[in-house]
Amino acid sequence: MDYRDHVQIVDDWPKEGVQFKDITPLMNNGKAFKTAVDEIVAYAHKKDIDLVVGPEARGFIIGCPVSYALEVGFAPVRKEGKLPREVVKVDYGLEYGQNVLTIHQDAIKPGERVLITDDLLATGGTIEATIQLVEQLGGIVVGCAFLIELSYLKGMEKLEGYDVLTLMRY
Ligand code: IMP
Repeated sequence: MDYRDHVQIVDDWPKEGVQFKDITPLMNNGKAFKTAVDEIVAYAHKKDIDLVVGPEARGFIIGCPVSYALEVGFAPVRKEGKLPREVVKVDYGLEYGQNVLTIHQDAIKPGERVLITDDLLATGGTIEATIQLVEQLGGIVVGCAFLIELSYLKGMEKLEGYDVLTLMRY
């Protein structure tokens, strides 16, 4: 399966100079989406995962079918002010902006083996913040899975020592 056939590149969005990789055509194609999810599930099967964690919003789209297939739970990482109960939080820098991410304080039990999912690895700020949240709660990050890695933004450097699966590289 060449997933790239299902990624649309949008120039100058959300701002000038950015080449946005739009994965909605991939999600829109049942066969391509299932094949991508199945590949992540096969990767996760070897890792004895207890929980999938994904940052909003596209981390949910990838993470939820993976958690369903593995029969493990899913915990959402959300922007500040979106989760209703007690949270832990972390500040992080984005490819274009600054943000705060949060997770419910009881979402992960100490020692749980966690797979983190997102659609795309750019500068690595989002995944780094998500890892910090998981580790603050005592979770063990045993894998990170992305559809796309933008290798020229060097996010992989922030993931040294972690096991990473990416289905496409640009
Ligand atoms: P990072 O924190 O710089 O690695 O950026 C990754 C986050 O930004 C992910 O949650 C992505 O959903 C989003 N993102 C950044 N660039 C793109 C893109 O080109 N296409 C889709 N999402 C992107």
